[in-house]
Amino acid sequence: MKEVLLLKYGELILKGANKNVFENTMLRDIRRKVAPFGDFEVRKAQSTVFVEPKDDFADIDGALDACLKIFGISSICRAAVCEKNMDTILQTVKDYVPDFMRACKSFKADARRSDKAFPYKSPQISAEVGGAVLSALPGIKVDVNNPDIVVMVEIRESAAYIHAGKFRGAGGMPAGSSGRGLLLLSGGIDSPVAGYMMAKRGVEIEALHFESFPYTSERAREKVLELARILSYYTPYGIKVHVISLTHIQEELKNNCEEDYFTLLLRRYMMHLASRVAKQYNCRALITGESLAQVASQTMQAIAVTDNAADLPVFRPAIGMDKEEIIQTARKIGTFDTSILPYEDCCTVFTPRHPRTKPELEKVLVQENKLDFKALADEAFESMYTVEIKPE
Ligand code: ATP
Ligand code: MG
Repeated sequence: MKEVLLLKYGELILKGANKNVFENTMLRDIRRKVAPFGDFEVRKAQSTVFVEPKDDFADIDGALDACLKIFGISSICRAAVCEKNMDTILQTVKDYVPDFMRACKSFKADARRSDKAFPYKSPQISAEVGGAVLSALPGIKVDVNNPDIVVMVEIRESAAYIHAGKFRGAGGMPAGSSGRGLLLLSGGIDSPVAGYMMAKRGVEIEALHFESFPYTSERAREKVLELARILSYYTPYGIKVHVISLTHIQEELKNNCEEDYFTLLLRRYMMHLASRVAKQYNCRALITGESLAQVASQTMQAIAVTDNAADLPVFRPAIGMDKEEIIQTARKIGTFDTSILPYEDCCTVFTPRHPRTKPELEKVLVQENKLDFKALADEAFESMYTVEIKPE
């Protein structure tokens, strides 16, 4: 029996004018992700993407798994395809759906007819389909209000599609539909998760990493590039990783400013530099992995001091998440094992023994003004280089 996947849109349906652009990006992404599982035709029709094997060798389980990670898709039906002829449809129902209903005590039959030339109306089709299910599974009950599973026949232009139950899609918005954002990507657990969460809302991700060579190593940078590579699975255009050296800034902070303020001052440089990079690359927001109260620099007062140095909105999707929840997501998206590799980060170089948790901006600025902020920032900005991670 021939099977296909029917991918149903989520919120994309609401997107008027640019819908086509996002649909096409999504189709390209789906084609790329199902390709390793065989030869599939991927096309759209009536707010549904059809993923159809072209031969018997295609691995539909693998393709289904891949499609479950596509943002913008709210649900996926695995369906049998057959000719639009009532006898064939009912026979297919009897042969195909019982496998999906082993654990079910009740069901509801439903039908949708978008091909109005089909000679039966939806209520008639549902009634016939319900009868076919009952004859194939005599113990099962009909429950139209709260069924364990819905058995559905869709009569479309191309064929009839029969499915029982559906898989929950990744949800979110299609890649790129919300514009581009600059992710401040460290080697830690939180920032890759933050990038994933914004990618899920349709943000095209570009990344910025700060290093502090020789205090941070080659291996630490490789780790960050590996995290970007894993994240790039969720962004159809790949990820550009910009790298800026903070070595000189950190040394100057250490030699001139009060130790308690090191981290805050460094984070202000990061925000300032990130804003400049974002503007150069048309990113409209910064994204960080901060979570309220997780460390000294993530109290409300500290966040206010760092925000003050950014001149773009700063998205912090993990702000209300517990570490445990962040870790769960990191495991789900496959970044956790890389994140916990024990390499140094520039934030862990020269860390103060008693960082300020309730800093006042005026006092921070007194420290900041001990250095030539602009000259140091310009020099760091000049050090930037870019590594491009291409989609696989
Ligand atoms: P993470 O696990 O993401 O490293 P964290 O809990 O260790 O976060 P911090 O080190 O205070 O927290 O960093 C807060 C945020 O600042 C990070 O989530 C990241 O967005 C950004 N950041 C920190 N270090 C760097 C870096 N070396 N390069 C780029 N961004 C960074
Ligand atoms: Mg960190």
